[in-house]
Amino acid sequence: MHPARLEVTRRSFLASVVDIVAFAVLIVTTAGASSRAIAKVRKGEFMYQDHPHDGKSCGQCKYFAPDNANPSTGSCEIVDGAISREGWCMAFVAKA
Ligand code: SF4
Repeated sequence: MHPARLEVTRRSFLASVVDIVAFAVLIVTTAGASSRAIAKVRKGEFMYQDHPHDGKSCGQCKYFAPDNANPSTGSCEIVDGAISREGWCMAFVAKA
């Protein structure tokens, strides 16, 4: 093969490798962001209600994080939106 043609082929090959690596990084980065973005579910999907269920409430759940300014509300690690300390959903897991 002619040396100039071999150089073009090598350059094309390296450009393709760079494109593939960049694409793989993009996919991994996007997948990571997506998994974080979909980590929380909507309240309705876990039948969230703003009152206790059989004496169990979000304030007793391991996924609840109270709001420091207003401890009657807070957030949940798995359910999206404002969560009432007195609420409940089917993903309830008692604090250890
Ligand atoms: S998992 Fe359900 S019960 Fe537990 S804090 Fe989140 S919304 Fe409340």
